[in-house]
Amino acid sequence: MNRSLHCFGRVAVAAFFLANGCGSPSSSGSLQPGTEVQLIGEEAGFGKIQTSEGEVGYVPLGMLKQRNTAEAFDADHTHAIVRATDFYDGLPVEPIAPPPPRDRAAIDREQHTLNALFIGEETGREVIAPGNVHYFVVDEETGERCWRSIECIHPDCPGEKKNGRPYYVFFLVAEKPNEEEPPIECNACLRFRDVDRETPLEKTEWSRYVRPYELPETLRRRGELDDERRRFVEELRKTHAD
Ligand SMILES: [Zn+2]
Ligand SMILES: [Zn+2]
Repeated sequence: MNRSLHCFGRVAVAAFFLANGCGSPSSSGSLQPGTEVQLIGEEAGFGKIQTSEGEVGYVPLGMLKQRNTAEAFDADHTHAIVRATDFYDGLPVEPIAPPPPRDRAAIDREQHTLNALFIGEETGREVIAPGNVHYFVVDEETGERCWRSIECIHPDCPGEKKNGRPYYVFFLVAEKPNEEEPPIECNACLRFRDVDRETPLEKTEWSRYVRPYELPETLRRRGELDDERRRFVEELRKTHAD
């Protein structure tokens, strides 16, 4: 594998490489996809985790996916391993090369099921679940529908921020097939607006502040998957060139 730095994207560099330090990372073994673990802390692009057997060590943060909290809400693990990874005794001080690229189908499969944030329509409870659903998931604990969250990024949005996140709005779609879907707007920002007198251009301007909310975990992983896809293509080209 080509281990030179130039071929890795910005995000992957942040996640897999440590800028300085010496000594080589020692791997105490590996973890298989689907392994359930508890995240204890985050450091320099790595997650400090504990396995169900009580082993403590480090894996790159990109190898961790938060568990679906719409299901088994009281599970004792916080994350699952997304693909086979080395498991390090101590925080690696030397750069770790990203794992070799998988084929495009495997990368796409993971991309489609990246986590999203959902908001309970009755309790306002935040639920994390794979985002490849039609608009909502059902929270097994409360039985309520939790809608895909949309965020308002207007700099002066008066909406209440929660958990350090920009103000979010529900994504409620029409209940009946023939009904028109309501526009996705920020309720909090409505107080700045005179909706009935706005020009179409003004409406479009406001709509630019409202967009699907992406979890930090998902943003980071999306970047890593884009990089993996690039490396897959690079290897494909090399193979054909030989
Ligand atoms: Zn390269
Ligand atoms: Zn707003």
